[in-house]
Amino acid sequence: MKTEALYDKDAFARDFVGKVISCEEVKLEDKTAYKVVLDKTVFFPEQGGQTSDIGTLDEVQVIDVQIEDDVIYHYCLSGFLIGEEVHGVIDWEHRFNNMQQHTGEHIFTGIAHNTYGADNVGFHLSDNTVTLDLNIELSDEQVDYIEKRANEIIASDVAVKAYYPNQQLLGAINYRSKKEINGAVRLVEIEGVDLCACCAPHVKTTGQVGVLKVISFGKYKGGTRVYILCGLRALADYNRRMKLLEQSYQLLNCKDDEVPEKVAGLMEDKRQLEYRICDIKAGMLTNQIETISPDLTDVTIFMEDLDAKTMRDGVNTLVEKHDGLCAIFSGNDEDGYNFVIGSKTRDCAAIATGLRELLGAKGGGSKQMAQGNVAATRNQIENTL
Ligand SMILES: [Zn+2]
Repeated sequence: MKTEALYDKDAFARDFVGKVISCEEVKLEDKTAYKVVLDKTVFFPEQGGQTSDIGTLDEVQVIDVQIEDDVIYHYCLSGFLIGEEVHGVIDWEHRFNNMQQHTGEHIFTGIAHNTYGADNVGFHLSDNTVTLDLNIELSDEQVDYIEKRANEIIASDVAVKAYYPNQQLLGAINYRSKKEINGAVRLVEIEGVDLCACCAPHVKTTGQVGVLKVISFGKYKGGTRVYILCGLRALADYNRRMKLLEQSYQLLNCKDDEVPEKVAGLMEDKRQLEYRICDIKAGMLTNQIETISPDLTDVTIFMEDLDAKTMRDGVNTLVEKHDGLCAIFSGNDEDGYNFVIGSKTRDCAAIATGLRELLGAKGGGSKQMAQGNVAATRNQIENTL
């Protein structure tokens, strides 16, 4: 017996009394649940890319709702007796929020379709994100236009109607549809904006969507994926972003519109400091090289924060003065070391191979010079060399 879908006729019905038709114990990943079928329900099941309603049946939590062959299954945390009457209540805040997002999607896609000929090829509405996929690539200007137009339509408060036209009429109507539909086609119409086959509940007028904001968009499978937020979700997201901005300008001690300039300035200061550190470190390395007795063979230097050029220059200087292996390691025991090795008398490529085999080092080079990095401690490196 198919479940009577009360949400189909009245998207604003929040509760109902239904009779238990069947109740089956099922094992979910981490718990036992009861799969309950009622003669009717206001719970919208997961379908068409939208997650299900949640709520309660006689105070028992409904954690998920699924539909198969027009039978709606409520996944509940306790069971019920067959024939029992239960009072069902949906989480209205959750539902209304979903209806705002879903109706916003119709408005956005309807405009994209009418203005640019885009077809909707995907829709996903979860508790965190709302995405819609279009089959054409949209430019920044086009997305800006759709967003602005969508908000004008929201402000003009157009009615959102759902109905089942008869088959004869249906053949003559040009409506959007994501897939071939078996059985009766339910059309959702926003006059002058969109006409689309859809089974989900929607708000009554576009004004109830509140606001539509594009969060981001990008190329996706030859078309465009657009992230939107509507109504109260958009407000929550606005508040979250305001808080982030507030934290940033307080930390930077500036006005909100000065944040990008301040951050760019700090990054430039950091670059300049890094150059200075490199210069100072290069000087320190030169000093250390000068203090080494020219009679010494096999010289190894460990020092933090050396850049690759300084290390190569240092090794070249060492090789002119010393026989055997000349090596400079830059880094620390926690993060590992970069190295440059050089020699007039020994085969550096072979030594690099040895470091690779014994310590898992990466890199290589020629007989005269090799470089790379190794995740090992100074002790391990010294013992290996
Ligand atoms: Zn819809």
